Amino acid sequence: MPTYQELAIMFRAIEAWGEDSQMKMLLEEMSELQKEICKSWRGADNVDHIAEEIADVEIMLEQLKLMTGSVDKVKTIREQKLRRLEQRLDEYEKKGN
Ligand SMILES: [Mg+2]
Repeated sequence: MPTYQELAIMFRAIEAWGEDSQMKMLLEEMSELQKEICKSWRGADNVDHIAEEIADVEIMLEQLKLMTGSVDKVKTIREQKLRRLEQRLDEYEKKGN
């Protein structure tokens, strides 16, 4: 959950560059994260770069939530999905896998 100050910066970015631009930036940042993950699979020691790209993607995802007015929906769905994941893990672990 972003702080009030972080939200203010994100709204300024959306206002300054527009929604289309920020959505394209999200795709660009996701691509950069993918690239770093691929590099790590090839043996690169790039944890710092992965962390940087995760931060970039998180910032852009927060803006997407603001742009789509889905902050509360995402929070609710996220909680539901995590509960379902926990149940699946409980079942998986009960089977002794
Ligand atoms: Mg980046």
